[in-house]
Amino acid sequence: MAKLNLPVYKKQELTVTITDLTYQGLGVAKVEGYPLFIKEALPQERLVVRVTKTGKNFGYAQAVKWLERSPKRVKTKAKYLQTGIAPLMHLQYPAQLAFKQKLIQDLLVKAHLGQVEVAPTLGMDQPYAYRNKAQVPVRQVRGQLEIGFFKQGSHDFVPLEDFYIQDQRIDEILVTVRDILRQYQIAAYDEVHHQGVVRHIMVRRGYYSHQAMVVLVTRTKKLPHAEAITQAIQTACPDVISILHNINSAKTNVILGSTTKLLAGKAEIEDQLNGLTFKISAQSFYQVNPTQTERLYQTAIDQAQLTGQETVIDAYCGIGTISLSMARHAQHVYGVEIVPQAIEDAKENARVNNLTNLTFEMGEAETWMAKWQEQGIKPDVIMVDPPRKGLTSSLIQSATAMKPNKIVYVSCNPATLVRDIREFMDYGYHVTKPIQPVDQFPQTTHVESITVLSRS
Ligand code: SAH
Repeated sequence: MAKLNLPVYKKQELTVTITDLTYQGLGVAKVEGYPLFIKEALPQERLVVRVTKTGKNFGYAQAVKWLERSPKRVKTKAKYLQTGIAPLMHLQYPAQLAFKQKLIQDLLVKAHLGQVEVAPTLGMDQPYAYRNKAQVPVRQVRGQLEIGFFKQGSHDFVPLEDFYIQDQRIDEILVTVRDILRQYQIAAYDEVHHQGVVRHIMVRRGYYSHQAMVVLVTRTKKLPHAEAITQAIQTACPDVISILHNINSAKTNVILGSTTKLLAGKAEIEDQLNGLTFKISAQSFYQVNPTQTERLYQTAIDQAQLTGQETVIDAYCGIGTISLSMARHAQHVYGVEIVPQAIEDAKENARVNNLTNLTFEMGEAETWMAKWQEQGIKPDVIMVDPPRKGLTSSLIQSATAMKPNKIVYVSCNPATLVRDIREFMDYGYHVTKPIQPVDQFPQTTHVESITVLSRS
């Protein structure tokens, strides 16, 4: 193999200036055009780094010593940064918002869509303690059961009590449950030997309802002292109205297994979004940032410019949160979702909120889009809110074949969004308003946005 002629070599120490930040939050320094990615380094900073990895097109380096710090740097407890809970918390919040706007802009330019504008990111006033859901690993550290997090990209477990971006009451409940598990001498999960009992504690909490749910995820079929533990949690935390036991025996990174048993209380909690009530079960997808979700949905509704006369399709509808919000401003909403339980929840949520102008179907969005077209349904607006992998070509084809005036695209991944915009353009749909990022995940690198595509 020919030796690569790279401007840097492994273990080399050199001084660099950071010019950019990647979508993973890594600082970028260019050495004779060769990009080096550096954890925790920010644009404008000068620092000494040590090269740790060299590839053909880019390499990685480790910060050794800072020579000049960014004026936008925030002093943090490094522990959080390392753990990867809040990979952007060393950057001032306004700069985080600008970073998210620029990230979409840069991807558009790369795709030769530089004419598409991106509006400033809508941020939070208090960009901390926002998560309504926690899934925290449980491990044994020096003989003691601990809750915590893994350092980014590693198996190093860091015990923690304050998770910074989670609802503070959720952190309190987590610590209480940890102490109860210790009291009953429950063994924590051991990844290496695939032994022990409790793998994760999951807590969900309603932002408005204040109802909380605790899910104990175990490797074993049985949770020892289940009854006593359940009672102890109920006594210590009266707001926990749902306690569940989930079994996950597999050697996997997936947190929840397929079997869930009710230990006490209800199988779901309730919460409100824009005045609508939703039932949330352990397994169902529910946006994690409640106040920003209200803004996200309201912005999507505003951008769809509904007058009450429209037929709307909500593909990827989950438990129907967007569908129900839109149903109040439309004539009829059709929702489709691939997870059976979520569709059951969506139907139930429509009933609970006394909304009758909705039809929910279980299956693939692609399939149902074609069926609805055969049935002669003519949507004015199609909403899409796909997972990170974005839309398929067949979905874009069947959606545009129905000739809606507007397609409103809620995206959690700018890379697939930009790819999909290009494809929509081939079918005569164009971005007519600036893309609107809404910060659903402060202190992290996740970018959520709304795009309106109109038929030209
Ligand atoms: N709009 C909802 C859910 C968005 S998450 C909300 O804001 O709460 C994306 C949803 O798409 C998930 O519920 C997932 O189960 C669903 N999904 C994934 N692939 C799908 C497909 N091919 N067809 C329909 N739904 C799909």
